[in-house]
Amino acid sequence: MTTNAIPYERSQLEIIDAVPERAMVVFAHPDDGELGAGGVIATWAEQSCEISMVVCTSGSSGSNDTAMTSESIVMIRRSEQLKASEVAGAQHVEFLDHPDGELEADRAFLGEIVWMIRKYRPEVVLCHDPHRFNGFNHRDHRMVGTGVLDAIYPYARDHLHFPEQMEHEGIEPYKVREVLMWGSDSPNAIVDTSSGVEKQIEALHQHKSQVEGLSGGPAVGERLRERARVVATNYPFEYGQAYRRLVARG
Ligand SMILES: [Zn+2]
Repeated sequence: MTTNAIPYERSQLEIIDAVPERAMVVFAHPDDGELGAGGVIATWAEQSCEISMVVCTSGSSGSNDTAMTSESIVMIRRSEQLKASEVAGAQHVEFLDHPDGELEADRAFLGEIVWMIRKYRPEVVLCHDPHRFNGFNHRDHRMVGTGVLDAIYPYARDHLHFPEQMEHEGIEPYKVREVLMWGSDSPNAIVDTSSGVEKQIEALHQHKSQVEGLSGGPAVGERLRERARVVATNYPFEYGQAYRRLVARG
C-alpha cells in the first residue's frame, strides 16, 4: 500500500475551507515559509487574504559555496525572499535579522513576535511545529515554533504583557484565532492548495541560492507537487498541505 509513506490517518484531517481576512507566516530561514505554507499563501492571497511574512533569521549560514561570505549570502537571500513573497502573493515581509543558527526563544524574541502579531492582527498564524520528534528539526525551527505559540497565548493577547508596545499608535492587545503548524508528527487539518501549488513552486524557485544547492536542486518542485498530491489522497481536491491546528477557546 502506497499510503504507508504517511504516518497518520489522512481521513481524519479536518478540511479548512474558511479563508481568513489576514494571515501571518512566521519562519526561521528564507524559503521555509514557501516550503511550509507557500501553497496556502498563494491560495488565500487569491481570495483577498492579506498575508504578512516574518523571516526570523537572515539565513547567513545558508550556503555551501566556500567562497561566499555571510554578508553576501544575507543580501542575496533577502532579495530572493522579497521576490518569493511577491510571487506567492504576500503584501508584507518583515526581516528580524537574527543570525542563522543562533535564534533563542527568549524574551527579546518573544517581544518581537508579539509586536508583529499586534501590528498585523492576523486571525491565523502559520509556523514551524516545535514539537516534532519524527525526524530532526532544526533548532531555529523549534525556537520559532516555541516563540510563536507563546506570543499568541498569552503574550499578544494580554495588555499587561509588553505594555510599552501599546504606547505606539495602532498597537493593541490582539487575540489570534488559530495557529497552523507545518512539519508536524500529528497533523489534524488540511488546506486545499490546488489553486496555489504552482505559485508555491514558482515562489520557491526565487530562492536561487538555495534551490540550486542546499534545498535539493531544480526537482524540488516535482517533489513538492508529488507530496501535496499524496497528502490530498482521499480528499475532494488534488493538492493539499497538512497542519497541526490549534484553535483558541472562546
Ligand atoms: Zn529552515
